[in-house]
Amino acid sequence: MKLVFATNNLNKLKEVQSLIPNNIQLLSLSDIGCAEDIPETQDTIEGNAIQKAKYLKEHYGYDCFADDTGLEVEALNGEPGVYSARYAGEQRNADDNMNKLLAKLGNNENRRAHFKTVISLHLNGKLHSFTGICKGEITLKKHGDKGFGYDPIFKADGFDKTFAEMSLEEKNKVGHRGKAVRQLIDFLNNIE
Ligand code: IMP
Repeated sequence: MKLVFATNNLNKLKEVQSLIPNNIQLLSLSDIGCAEDIPETQDTIEGNAIQKAKYLKEHYGYDCFADDTGLEVEALNGEPGVYSARYAGEQRNADDNMNKLLAKLGNNENRRAHFKTVISLHLNGKLHSFTGICKGEITLKKHGDKGFGYDPIFKADGFDKTFAEMSLEEKNKVGHRGKAVRQLIDFLNNIE
C-alpha cells in the first residue's frame, strides 16, 4: 500500500518510515510532484491536520496523513497554539517566537504548557485522528541548543532539562509527536 505523508521534512519522513509496517510504502510530497503550499487556514491544530489530509486526497488522489503541532500555554489562554510557527510574525523565526512568549509570560508563576500534535489519516475514504500531548512548563529563559522551535524553553514533566538539552531519542520517547506517531503506527499495524 502507498501512503503519502504530507511533509517535505526528510527527518520526519525517515523517522516515520522506520517505524511503519513494511507493506506500507511512504511517499513524500515531492514524490507525488506536490510543490505547492498546502492550505492551513483553520483556527485549531486538529482543523489544520484534517484540512491538509483532505486537500491532498482531493487534489492528488492518494491515501495520506498530515500532522500539525502547536504549543499551548495555560496562562496565555492557549497561545501560541495554532499560530506557533508564526507567533512573532511571518518570518517564522524560532528565537523571535520564544522571545515574544517569554515576554508575554513575564514572571507569571503559572508556567504550565503542553505541546499537542494531531495526525489526521485519510484512508479508504475515512478520516482518523491521533493526538499526542506532552505536558510540562515554560522555563524562565532558554537552555540548550538541540531540537528546534520552542525546545529551549520547554521542560517536560519529570525532567530537569529542556527539550533542547535532550537527545532526539529521549525527546521522542516522551514527546508529543512520538506519542501521536505511535498511535498511527498501532492503527496501521492492526488494519486488515
Ligand atoms: P508543525 O506543525 O510541526 O510544522 O509545527 C508548527 C510549529 O510548532 C513549529 O514551527 C514550531 O514553532 C512548533 N513546534 C512543533 N513541534 C515542536 C517541537 O517538537 N518542539 C518545539 N517546537 C515545536
